[in-house]
Amino acid sequence: MIIDGKKIGQQIREEIKTEISKLSGSPGLTFVLVGNDPASHTYVGMKKKGCAHVGIRSNVIELPETVSQTELLNTIEDLNQDPNVDGILVQLPLPKQIDENKVMLTIDPMKDVDGFHPVNVGKMLLGDESGFLPCTPHGIKVLLEKSKIDPAHKHVVVVGRSNIVGKPLAAILVQKKPYCNATVTIAHSGTKDLAQITRQADILVAAIGKEHFIKKEMVKPKAVVIDVGINRITKSGKSVLVGDVDFDEVSKVASHITPVPGGVGPMTITMLLQNTLKSYVQKGS
Ligand code: NDP
Repeated sequence: MIIDGKKIGQQIREEIKTEISKLSGSPGLTFVLVGNDPASHTYVGMKKKGCAHVGIRSNVIELPETVSQTELLNTIEDLNQDPNVDGILVQLPLPKQIDENKVMLTIDPMKDVDGFHPVNVGKMLLGDESGFLPCTPHGIKVLLEKSKIDPAHKHVVVVGRSNIVGKPLAAILVQKKPYCNATVTIAHSGTKDLAQITRQADILVAAIGKEHFIKKEMVKPKAVVIDVGINRITKSGKSVLVGDVDFDEVSKVASHITPVPGGVGPMTITMLLQNTLKSYVQKGS
């Protein structure tokens, strides 16, 4: 069975839109976009479109590739002070001269709708729901919940330990909370006999960044497979997006599987919209 992230994401966006329509004002999200990376421009464009659909005010501050660290941090400080800004999103990756950690630390945790500030990471680990969860792992949790797949008492194997996907997803699904309470294993490039680990998964999450890396032999029959990967490849002369899972093969053995595109991606943007609404409501603006 295919888990339709696009449809589930759209349903949640309609709920967000309804909630926003009842507010006296509208939440505001500012993107900071540095340089000319085409993928970053595409992602910000998609996120802006999502904002417009639900009634979130959004604007983009574009800075040149050569921007200094001080200039970027000053821009963020100004946004921290601006009462019309509920969420700040600095699109990654940043140029070499910029220290990404310093940037994350400068964003007001109350406006950190990406959920990357250490204060929000700490709250996530503690299970404190006043913080912002990072959008992709949160989106995966909601995708499972809306598909009535309860990770409780199951073995979840996450392949990938990045700070934006693998590690936070493990931290979320291990919480003693509804639609969590899983036994979680994190695998990575240092894992010995990876297939032997992935075959134990009731729920297998691939967040690797390598096209078609997860093959049928690595998946337990009837497992749930969540594909986070977004890899651009050329197929029959055309540029297409594919996941980290060999969908054609693995969909024959999995009980549920997310497609790429149309799986986790739309949920990531939806959770960003939800975090921006949450920030607005928490500020009481
Ligand atoms: P990173 O490159 O930061 O992390 C990749 C992880 O995969 C690392 O932990 C790495 O291990 C592990 N890995 C790499 N090769 C292997 C291997 N041969 N065996 C086992 N593990 C391996 O990527 P991200 O987490 O940022 O992103 C992962 C994918 O998800 C990308 O395709 C990205 O585009 C996509 N993505 C999609 C999003 C969405 O909204 N759908 C959002 C964010 C990302 P090690 O740590 O040892 O290097």
